[in-house]
Amino acid sequence: MIIGIDDTDSRRGGCTTYLCAVLVDELKKYGEISTPRLVRLNPCIPFKTRGNGAVSFEIRIANGKEEKEVKEVVKARVSELSELSEEETNPGVVFIDNDTLTAISRGEKENNSDEILRNFYENAVREVLRLADAYELISNLHLDYFGLKTKRGIIGALAAASFSLLQKNKPDYYDFTYELMSYRRKERWGMLRLIDEASVWKADAATYPLTWDTVDWSEKKIVFAPHSPCPVLFGIRGDSVDAIYKAYELIDAEPEERKMLFITNQGTDFHLIRFEGEVAKEKLQDYHSYILAGEVESNPRTIEGGHVLFSVSLSEEETSVECIAYEPTKGFRDVIRKLRAGDEITVYGSLKKGTLNLEKIEVRKLNNVVERNPRCDKCGRTMKSAGRFQGYRCKRCGTFKAEKDKVIVDRGIETGLYEVPPVARRHIAKPLIRMRMEEADKEIHPSR
Ligand code: ATP
Repeated sequence: MIIGIDDTDSRRGGCTTYLCAVLVDELKKYGEISTPRLVRLNPCIPFKTRGNGAVSFEIRIANGKEEKEVKEVVKARVSELSELSEEETNPGVVFIDNDTLTAISRGEKENNSDEILRNFYENAVREVLRLADAYELISNLHLDYFGLKTKRGIIGALAAASFSLLQKNKPDYYDFTYELMSYRRKERWGMLRLIDEASVWKADAATYPLTWDTVDWSEKKIVFAPHSPCPVLFGIRGDSVDAIYKAYELIDAEPEERKMLFITNQGTDFHLIRFEGEVAKEKLQDYHSYILAGEVESNPRTIEGGHVLFSVSLSEEETSVECIAYEPTKGFRDVIRKLRAGDEITVYGSLKKGTLNLEKIEVRKLNNVVERNPRCDKCGRTMKSAGRFQGYRCKRCGTFKAEKDKVIVDRGIETGLYEVPPVARRHIAKPLIRMRMEEADKEIHPSR
């Protein structure tokens, strides 16, 4: 049976991954449990608490135990550990029973159940869904579920359960990474986290780039521990389980209550919808994230608050989109400020109120030609305009040139991919250092 869970926490406390870790430990006596999954869903959803995360895991029920008993434990823990007094907490749980799993894997279930679940997961990461969409699928596939209050968490729970099922059948179908979460003892929740910073830098140095986003070198900050009152002590992210555990062993911190390794879609850029070629503006919607190719239309300008704004034309039809690098993206703004009208770029980011909030940028071709008044071949001085459309003349020597000189300038920036630093990175955004492994054809300039 696969179990998906979401929306149990609030800004004041709790964490759905913690609830998952507690359940996985508790349910071991009922059967063998898979590595749990942590999926990050659409990062633009307004009612998310933090990173729009949802969890799932599979349990192979042991002989003599029943699915019914496991479901009761899950419902009891979700009811007990959810932050129910918070308006925005609306827990949801979805169960994909063993019979259903078998029927789906044998292709006996409703036509293309696999594809329906895949679409649901993908839409939960890229689109804005309604609770009714989740109920429709649950009813079509005859799934069991449980929810509290508005039960909105069912959307995320079904998406997380779908991810588990898809990965179980085709482990490499989706790009994935790992995160090892360490949880605090209850008596320390809400107190300052005791973590020896030097040990974190050491752990990072010993395992980067197989682990990433533990620290931010440019900002000289440790970024792997939250500052909220939630039970998470820290999380180590990476591509290698061995490297993650090696880093973990090197970290010196307050004693933990428990830890749990998750397989996740973090660091994969799965939220981005890629448009090939020209794009009509009507196709772009708020609360969606895109990869868009175009040409810088206006030189970047810094506005109040230190945010940097410029526009990109997306097609011949004068379609353009405003792009913004917010102040928290720190040094990334220095790259953006170096762009110039005419540069060919690809922008990566989320659309909010019609403006694309940048996460990454690829500079494909620099407009490094500047037109200047020509120089006189005799005396070397700059020639002056001889009037509109009448060329240029040297006042001293009387020499004439019809056109401006084209000069190649050094732009102080290279072509290739640039990214926001770890302090400003979304959970689901792919660090450029991961692209080195996959997209060898692209030049990358990791923030570190
Ligand atoms: P976490 O704190 O665990 O990192 P989160 O707490 O930020 O994640 P939730 O509290 O789970 O986010 O709230 C997100 C809510 O949005 C959940 O109820 C979930 O079901 C719902 N949701 C997730 N993705 C979508 C989507 N694409 N469309 C509509 N609703 C969604």
